[in-house]
Amino acid sequence: MTGSRTGIPQQPTFIAADGRIPFPHTDQILRCRTNPQMFEIEDIHSTAENSHARQTALTTANRACSGCPIVTGCLKWALANPDLTKTGIWAATTARDRAELRDRLVERLGADWVAAVVDQDRRRRERQREVRVVPPATRELALARLELEDIPTRPEPYNRWTEPITPDRAASNRRALVQAITNEAA
Ligand code: SF4
Repeated sequence: MTGSRTGIPQQPTFIAADGRIPFPHTDQILRCRTNPQMFEIEDIHSTAENSHARQTALTTANRACSGCPIVTGCLKWALANPDLTKTGIWAATTARDRAELRDRLVERLGADWVAAVVDQDRRRRERQREVRVVPPATRELALARLELEDIPTRPEPYNRWTEPITPDRAASNRRALVQAITNEAA
């Protein structure tokens, strides 16, 4: 095996992974990590007991990849890192499948197709963020209006220059004035 399925090269291989496409993460237990030999079909030799050992492993690995939650990210990573995925099954593809897919990507997106894919992914994430900021539905607006109507209206603060003074306010002002004068005189 030339690389690890975590995206980190292992000894004796020191090939750096293409950092533009990070290996996707999942907390789910993956068959390619618990039983990596099953995915290294090139290492599997048919035995007398099982003449179709490689085909059996291929079918099992493909089935495991089909139910994998990170299959799309795994395929992108495997395609972007040919030197780390020279053998084995990655995202239900053989080495030959991946070579053909890379050729098609070069045809469609150019020699630096990895940059084009990264850009596409960024634009897709931005579009998804925009879609999430949707205007409130009519029902939500009606509910918000009802809530506002339920809030009791607060009285306007007293404005001494425009409103006539009330007897209570006049008495309070007088008390404050008398107190101030008394304190001054003391
Ligand atoms: S798609 Fe397959 S090879 Fe890739 S992480 Fe999932 S199980 Fe492993």
